Amino acid sequence: MTKIMIVEDEAGLRQGLEINLRMENYETVQAADGEEAIRLFHADQPDLVLLDLMLPKKSGFEVLDHIRKYSRAPVILLTARGQETDKVRGLRGGADDYVTKPFGLQELFARIDAVMRRSEATVAAKVICEDDLIKLDPSTREASARNQKLKLSPKEFDLLMYLFRNKERVVPRDELLSRVWNYRVDLNLNSRTVDTHVTRLRRKLQKAVGTDAAVIVAVAKIGYRYLGDASSAA
Ligand code: CA
Repeated sequence: MTKIMIVEDEAGLRQGLEINLRMENYETVQAADGEEAIRLFHADQPDLVLLDLMLPKKSGFEVLDHIRKYSRAPVILLTARGQETDKVRGLRGGADDYVTKPFGLQELFARIDAVMRRSEATVAAKVICEDDLIKLDPSTREASARNQKLKLSPKEFDLLMYLFRNKERVVPRDELLSRVWNYRVDLNLNSRTVDTHVTRLRRKLQKAVGTDAAVIVAVAKIGYRYLGDASSAA
């Protein structure tokens, strides 16, 4: 059973979420402040975290930083209306998605389903990724574009596979660091590492595909998105 931790200081909202999530057959853990969230994250090891940003004792950002040092468990932010910069900061800090308060339960359930599917897709990495442009076989680590073999480094392969599996959205750099590089705080990596790898990967793809059409696009201040065969779609 999927275990969801609800981190929210408004008791009414927290308890309401708990009741509704249980009715949907989720197991739940409740935390009312940032310190409790960190403690219970380790004690209960939830599969997914719903994280309010404005919290007593430690902020949601501090909780998110802490979680990302130890885990890739999906995190959905519960943000207030008008906190655009907070959403971006949260997504760059490794959150998977957000909902804006007041949100409907159906929207929340849909977002929970979506991030859980993505998370499971990353784990079940044995499936071949294939579209009109590229083919990636995780079991043999063979990559090709337009049937031409690509010589990719292991990290380039993982990076392309992760972008491919998340092709419907922009993937933040920090998420790439966490999911592709298994980023941990004791490794001296930063977002430049991602940029350097993406640049090399693009060059190899472009050479194989033989056009200037962007296969992977940069989205300013956030991250990257795999477009696939953008040239034929145009
Ligand atoms: Ca709050």
